[in-house]
Amino acid sequence: MFDTLDELEDHKIRYRYGRQGTPLTSALEDVVSELEGAEGTVLCPSGVAAISVALLSCLSSGDELLVTDSVYEPTRAFCETVLKRQGITTRYFDPRIGDGISAFISERTRAIFLESPGSLTFELQDIPAIAGAIGSRDITVLVDNSWATPLYCKPLSLGADIVIHSGTKMFAGHSDTMIGTASANAKALPGLIKTHRTLGQIASPDDTFLTMRGMRTLAVRMKEHQARALELAQWLEGWSDKIKVLHPGLPSHPDHGVFKRDFSGSGSLFSFILPEAPRTAKAAMVDNMTLFGMGYSWGGFESLVLPAWPQKIRTAVPWREPGNLFRLHVGFEDMGELKADLDSGLKRYFSILGM
Ligand SMILES: *Cc1c(COP(=O)(O)O)cnc(C)c1O
Repeated sequence: MFDTLDELEDHKIRYRYGRQGTPLTSALEDVVSELEGAEGTVLCPSGVAAISVALLSCLSSGDELLVTDSVYEPTRAFCETVLKRQGITTRYFDPRIGDGISAFISERTRAIFLESPGSLTFELQDIPAIAGAIGSRDITVLVDNSWATPLYCKPLSLGADIVIHSGTKMFAGHSDTMIGTASANAKALPGLIKTHRTLGQIASPDDTFLTMRGMRTLAVRMKEHQARALELAQWLEGWSDKIKVLHPGLPSHPDHGVFKRDFSGSGSLFSFILPEAPRTAKAAMVDNMTLFGMGYSWGGFESLVLPAWPQKIRTAVPWREPGNLFRLHVGFEDMGELKADLDSGLKRYFSILGM
């Protein structure tokens, strides 16, 4: 409510209407901005909403977008439907393209979207090389940083313009809310705020409250997730030489050099690949696990296992790893019990293979 006509007409007043947020909105925006080293942040009702708002903030009809082939599938769906209908074309590139992106950039390229690591297949992108290849061209670099969180990677300091989080995952941390954030440098922020306001894609106060609560323990949770995921990844590598583990924090990962240069820690999520096997073997493993639940979302207390099919998603570079991919989110259950659960699952899988 406004007390006077002067106040009503004063457009500099911060809280004029619900869609412009509340003091709580500003508090969470400020935390994320500070962690990311951003000029400002907007809160959205989901990670996908943050991705779509951020992309729409820097693309117009006739423009072209370049996207890593390892991108989260709903991001690809947004590009192939809404953006396509607006006359915005998307081309996908090898996540390990590095400065080879130069050859990919055209006159019409206005944005490059990265997700490092890809949240199923865990290739890292060389953000400094990609940002460097752009030179002085007017191209916005966006990074989905949900895996590492700003505690372990700060894409804006590596040359990105907008950094996005599915706050549903690590920020909220308890699998009980959905939210997304997009944070920008000074160049990209005005467009981001304008698009966010215009689309009305705001996070609700309750979700903002739950996420603010999650931020208070983000650092301790990430430390614990990191240690547990690395321990299980190493344990899996030792379980059998027939298991291929995809975790950028392990020396065996092809992008471990980029990881050591650009990241100060690793997340809760990694994948492993088991030898080709009939569907019954996959089902025998995942249908009978006791601690690892089967589900897509991640970031909470509970550990998750997810069979996935990257070969069905890729378009730029076919996924050539033979075998079945499983993604794990490592939560806070007893480590011995988690290993026992995985151990029996693997035994069920390999026994169907006669191994
Ligand atoms: C879950 C996820 C998203 C989407 O977030 P929602 O909050 O579920 O909309 C985006 N990127 C990554 C890497 C994710 O894991």
